[in-house]
Amino acid sequence: MKEGKLISLGIECTAHTFGASVVREDGVILSDVKDIYKPPPGRGIHPRESAQHHSQVGARVLREALERAEVRLSDVDVVAFSAGPGLGPCLRTGATLARAIASLLSKPLVQVNHAIGHIEIARLTTRVEDPLVVLVSGGHTTITTFIDGRYRVYGETLDITLGNLLDAFAREAGLPSPGGPVVEKLAREGSKVVELPYVVKGNDVSYSGLLTASLEKLRKGAKLEDLCLSIQEYAFSMLAEAAERALAFTEKPALLLTGGVAANERLKEVMRMVAEEHGASFHVVPPQYSGDCGAQIAWTGLLHFKHGDVVEVDESSVKPRWRLDEVDVPWRR
Ligand code: AMP
Ligand code: MG
Repeated sequence: MKEGKLISLGIECTAHTFGASVVREDGVILSDVKDIYKPPPGRGIHPRESAQHHSQVGARVLREALERAEVRLSDVDVVAFSAGPGLGPCLRTGATLARAIASLLSKPLVQVNHAIGHIEIARLTTRVEDPLVVLVSGGHTTITTFIDGRYRVYGETLDITLGNLLDAFAREAGLPSPGGPVVEKLAREGSKVVELPYVVKGNDVSYSGLLTASLEKLRKGAKLEDLCLSIQEYAFSMLAEAAERALAFTEKPALLLTGGVAANERLKEVMRMVAEEHGASFHVVPPQYSGDCGAQIAWTGLLHFKHGDVVEVDESSVKPRWRLDEVDVPWRR
């Protein structure tokens, strides 16, 4: 339902999720449809297999997104796709679809940075203006805030992400994918915190030693529930320490948690405490928009479009290692 306002179609395709969404200029999310590739038990995401999944479900997901939004493809004013960071084959599948639509219908094309998508969908849905952002997902563990035209990084992981840590531990422990929700559930049944490596360097965290040590303890017979509890306590405390310093340093009035791991209740509790100690308000992206989704791309694409940030189809590209601090953010100026 267009109602005379600009309409954006967003395509998300950085890793396991193929998503399509229609979002209106006034911030109303008219539809958000996704289909998630699930690797076989015991295996991580294989980029080519995930891309194949996306090309199989892409047309159906897209059609459903348009139908639920009650808009025709010809009503769309801008086509946005996630150009990175992410897995090359997955990114290329989404980019190809977006380019085809933009070319066939002569619509403007916008490249969206996936991480900025996680931030902007969280700002839209929580209405928080100027937060320090803790972005935790399969692809990111980043503490960032807007300063002087861009999102600047005030801490990040030096190796694997928080989502990777939880997923890889679960996979090695024979638990189903995605690991995060399973680890969270088992952690509730844990009764003791076992000692694990706690690594914060400067304002960055490192999780790979925590993963290795947890798996080692699992092999030596530690209780799975206790390990799940301990991994969460260690990983979240490290992140809390870094977030706390960033909040003290930037003096931002709010703390915003976003990305797939933002669905975790214990992490919310820990981050809420950090915010309260610094007199900052606390906000979390709603669970339906915490994981990868088309809405984060459609909305951010619309923000870019309104500032003239469009790309010619033959100049568009995918950027598997695109950092969020390389992107100008004119709508926040
Ligand atoms: P994204 O990459 O943003 O789609 O987020 C996916 C990541 O979020 C995966 O690593 C999941 O394991 C993780 N995740 C989803 N739900 C939870 C949860 N309740 N607790 C911890 N991690 C979660
Ligand atoms: Mg993501």
